[in-house]
Amino acid sequence: MKYVIANWKANLNLAGVQAFIDGTKQLAAGGQLPATTETLAIVAPTSIFYTHLKNQDLPVKVGLQDISPFAGGAYTGEVTPQNLNDCAPEYIIVGHSERRREYHEDNALIVRKAQSCWALDATPIICFDEPEAADLSAKLQEFMDKPMILAYEPVSAISTSGNAGNLDPALLSQKLTAFRQLFPDKDIIYGGSVKADNAHSYAQVCDGLLVGSASLQADSYWAIVKNFSSK
Ligand code: PGA
Repeated sequence: MKYVIANWKANLNLAGVQAFIDGTKQLAAGGQLPATTETLAIVAPTSIFYTHLKNQDLPVKVGLQDISPFAGGAYTGEVTPQNLNDCAPEYIIVGHSERRREYHEDNALIVRKAQSCWALDATPIICFDEPEAADLSAKLQEFMDKPMILAYEPVSAISTSGNAGNLDPALLSQKLTAFRQLFPDKDIIYGGSVKADNAHSYAQVCDGLLVGSASLQADSYWAIVKNFSSK
């Protein structure tokens, strides 16, 4: 299975979410959604929009962007497994570089967040950059029988924090050879300035894409799904 995961970050209000929903429905009505069975489309909104998005019957899985390391209880502001246990999210992003940078999250905390995902039978999408990879792998060793997707996101390539542009697919391929040793048998996806016009260049290289800025509008998100999936 391959994945194209929309990471909306803290963008979009209800009107923006609705515009994505309406845009997707229009594309579907016009027969313009990519007919792909091999690529899973996943959209990760801010948690308050999760249920609204899930109730739309769109051809996407609805995920989340973060989860508390605590099971539930007196943790003001957190979204815990207890809060989510009847929402059944299947995919949850953890360890994004923005959380590592702004909230000082480290691999130990991120693995606890992954454990919160597993408590819900959700698959964590665990983000890392190269300097974190070896330690993350070591900390995940005892959980290697659990479902997880690894997301390699070089900070320098992320559109809002880097200025390097998207990573050259040939270089990504080299990096993934090393990461596959660290995370054997796991799907590894790439994120960083992916757009409709470069999505196809990653199709043969990695197991999926994590897309930020270019995932906020339906047209551009579905163009990425289409181009990544086309042979
Ligand atoms: P970008 O963000 O696609 O805007 O570079 C990717 C990410 O941070 O997940």
